[in-house]
Amino acid sequence: MSAREVRVPDLGDFKDVAVIEVLVRPGDRVEKEQPLITLESDKATMEVPATEAGIVKQLNVKVGDKVSAGDSILVLEPSVEAPPAPAASKPASLPPTFPEKPSKSAASSTKLPQNADIMAEVMVLGAGPGGYSAAFRAADLGKKVVLVERYPSLGGVCLNVGCIPSKALLHAAKVIEDAGMMAKHGIRFGPPTIDLPELRQYKTSVVTKLTGGLKGLAKRRKVSVVQGVGRFTGPHSLEVTGADGKKLLVGFEAAIIAAGSAPIRLPGLPDDPRIMDSTAALELPDIPERLLVIGGGIIGLEMANVYAALGSKVDVVEMTPGLLPGADPDLVKPLHKRMQARLAAIYTATKVAGIEAKQDALHVKLEGKDAPASKVYDRVLVAVGRRPNGHGIGAEAAGVTVDARGFIPTDAQLRTNVPHIFAIGDVTKPPLLAHKAVHEGKTAAEVIAGHKAAFDARCIPSVVYTDPEVAWTGLTELEAKAAGIEVSVGRFPWAANGRSLGMGYSDGVTKILFDKTSGRALGGAAVGPNAGELMAEISLAIEMGADAQDIGLTVHAHPTLSETVAMSAEQVTGTLTDL
Ligand code: NAD
Repeated sequence: MSAREVRVPDLGDFKDVAVIEVLVRPGDRVEKEQPLITLESDKATMEVPATEAGIVKQLNVKVGDKVSAGDSILVLEPSVEAPPAPAASKPASLPPTFPEKPSKSAASSTKLPQNADIMAEVMVLGAGPGGYSAAFRAADLGKKVVLVERYPSLGGVCLNVGCIPSKALLHAAKVIEDAGMMAKHGIRFGPPTIDLPELRQYKTSVVTKLTGGLKGLAKRRKVSVVQGVGRFTGPHSLEVTGADGKKLLVGFEAAIIAAGSAPIRLPGLPDDPRIMDSTAALELPDIPERLLVIGGGIIGLEMANVYAALGSKVDVVEMTPGLLPGADPDLVKPLHKRMQARLAAIYTATKVAGIEAKQDALHVKLEGKDAPASKVYDRVLVAVGRRPNGHGIGAEAAGVTVDARGFIPTDAQLRTNVPHIFAIGDVTKPPLLAHKAVHEGKTAAEVIAGHKAAFDARCIPSVVYTDPEVAWTGLTELEAKAAGIEVSVGRFPWAANGRSLGMGYSDGVTKILFDKTSGRALGGAAVGPNAGELMAEISLAIEMGADAQDIGLTVHAHPTLSETVAMSAEQVTGTLTDL
């Protein structure tokens, strides 16, 4: 079919309206009604949708252009073909593609296994936050759901051996730290007495409260939970092997793979129980006198924080030149300063060349400019990242593509290369975060139920729950620089925030990045106690396309940390009076 121009429709009385967003790029496939550009006049914002499906051949507008009715937006080659390969690497800021219609027709034409022990309209593999959210949403939308999970309790890594237990321990660590800090201000406590079994029990009680709640929620929704290890045996069947070796065949019309991720193991390390991953470290086997944490990323720093507060002498070894690689250096600096005071040593640009497990201790060889050649520890925590669990689930039997690293590519509707099989969460692509998985899970369930849904978040917040917290959402300054995106950065130091000073903290900073052309918020970040909570407002601002005036003119309660968000925006509008 020949290419056609898509033009600006009748805009009523409006002329020379600004293009504030271009939502597609050459080569993209668009569906009929999919937004192409966003226009903004002084009265309204409107999206111009595609008049038909096709491939974008040429873009004739850019952000900042002024357009009127009849102006050419782009050249589209109409097409009726199925979409190209999944757009897994597409940045989240681009709009989703809406490939095939969901599996209603697929369901009726499926070759469901005749010998299945249990049949599902939707089978969800993995009951982490992504998996159980997908299962519950699908059930709420009227589907018969089977949720397959290898462990006895629902909730996956996050609830059982990740986010939740670590936050319970980080809370304990913060209480100890805060009590100690008050010595400078006239309130002195004695050194804490730590009852490890009781602390473990507190952590476990938080976990069981949540996982028990999930069990009840599944029951009330009539979601069938099957316990065992699942492996696909075909495009519509999954074999589940229970702990007793018994096998059960689940037949399904549609599936959602939510198999998560696992800690990366460093090769060449001895098999010794004193060398732990994050799961083992969260068990709090003891409080080692000397602990080495390998990896200065999110898990490494959170656990270093916990063990240091409990009394261990903690060293951190990080391979790259700085902690939290990928985060903006101005955020990392206050954390590094505080961690340096709390920990025995931080060795950056350093590698562990080997560990010898002797009876007395673990003898660790280090290679780095400022590190000693060797050091002795009672325990070692390896926290060098996580890898997706795409391999080992029999995806090949279902025809699902898994890449070399173990990720399963999907399109914006979370559909894999097999149209009735979806994948969500850690197993699809970074960031490996529970809240991303939850949103993806709900989207996949909605698509299966026939909704025109897609995961098109403009930002996904990241929070490192150290003391101080480091948090960011949307575009970072490093990313803006690398991509050549011109931004205005509003920054507010917490040294001028009364609430922060009252909490005894003055090193924090909040910043927001605004697009220089459209003025809209693109990203934001903060470092300081409870910095993570500030990401909610900044994320909403990014999603709503708010500019600095929108944020600055919103009345924020005084005195709160949230004022640092408003004042970062005021710095850009030039209305700031607090500095
Ligand atoms: P990470 O990627 O955050 O950090 C791993 C760190 O180890 C990096 O700094 C890396 O440079 C370093 N490293 C890698 N190999 C090394 C080596 N041989 N020697 C020394 N350093 C080495 O990974 P993580 O901390 O293991 O966390 C895994 C995932 O879990 C992350 O993707 C994170 O998003 C997620 N997570 C999130 C939270 C949260 O949201 N608060 C908490 C825990 C985990």
